[in-house]
Amino acid sequence: MLQTKKKKMIATKGYAALDAGSPLLPFSFERRTPGPRDVQLEILFCGVCHSDLHQVRNEWGRGIFPMVPGHEIVGRVARAGEQVKKFSIGDVGAVGCLVDSCRECDNCKQGLEQYCENGAVGTYNSYERDGKTPTYGGYSKTIIVHEDFVLKVPSNLALEGVAPLLCAGITTYSPLRHWHIGKGHKVGVLGLGGLGHMAVKFASAFGAEVTMLSTSPSKEADSKRLGASKFVLTTDTANLKPLRNYFDFIIDTVSAPHDYSPYLRMLNTNGVHICVGAPPEPSQFRTMALIANRRSIAGSNIGGLPETQEMLDFCSSYHIVSDVEVIDIKDINAAFERMLNGDVRYRFVIDMATL
Ligand SMILES: [Zn+2]
Ligand SMILES: [Zn+2]
Repeated sequence: MLQTKKKKMIATKGYAALDAGSPLLPFSFERRTPGPRDVQLEILFCGVCHSDLHQVRNEWGRGIFPMVPGHEIVGRVARAGEQVKKFSIGDVGAVGCLVDSCRECDNCKQGLEQYCENGAVGTYNSYERDGKTPTYGGYSKTIIVHEDFVLKVPSNLALEGVAPLLCAGITTYSPLRHWHIGKGHKVGVLGLGGLGHMAVKFASAFGAEVTMLSTSPSKEADSKRLGASKFVLTTDTANLKPLRNYFDFIIDTVSAPHDYSPYLRMLNTNGVHICVGAPPEPSQFRTMALIANRRSIAGSNIGGLPETQEMLDFCSSYHIVSDVEVIDIKDINAAFERMLNGDVRYRFVIDMATL
């Protein structure tokens, strides 16, 4: 009997949490050999998302360890399978939160892979479609991804600032597009962090009047620089009164537990409170605050592949990138601590040349 020849794997290295709550440490592992439609990226930059921290600490449960986090990836194509059409060696490509999906369900067919009915494959802390091969993320030298899940990166943008667009960017871009938010709309952005600063940039680029709602007075100057025309300190309740029935939309980027009711009352008739931050506990609101002006609470999760490409192209036209602090990978654990304290403006990005 012929023995099946095992495909040669590609050795690489990264930083991993070996188990829940462990600090990230250097870690050697293997990637698959590129298939005919796979692209091999040598990773240049990887953004540090809040969800990386939650997942390496297993705060959402069901963590797969060892875990190499990272889903805001920009890299250079080092190798492409023989049937790859979109990329040539030397091109810059990007990978976000997804590396595969079923491609057959209604959502996938509409380019809404993030809502795949059969479960999209996360870039890390997930299993490939075979249900058993763990995925490892972008805190690493090399990643191999099917070309359909690799985005083209416009050549006029600073690559370290592009990396966070792959999660923080698309997470805020997608709901703004879905609800056709733009000129003539008043938009409140709740929370100025990785997500919030992108929400301000996009909403103002789309022509909306943007108000930053923040608990931190130190964020006022930044929010105006990013494109907000107003800043409201929400810790002083006297500031909230004039905002009653004011907004058409609120983009809520806060992932700590909070009561939605005061913000719902800031929405005008038919206003929508859009959640993109995910508090770990069930959230509270007064139903009457919804009923009173036919308001809604909605949510939105990242974006599909076509929309993510559209966002990158939009960013190219409007020269939008994320505001970043570039770090060495050896400083990742310290960066996690600083991120927990809100001490980053507004995204850490790992320079993978330091690995
Ligand atoms: Zn993320
Ligand atoms: Zn699907």
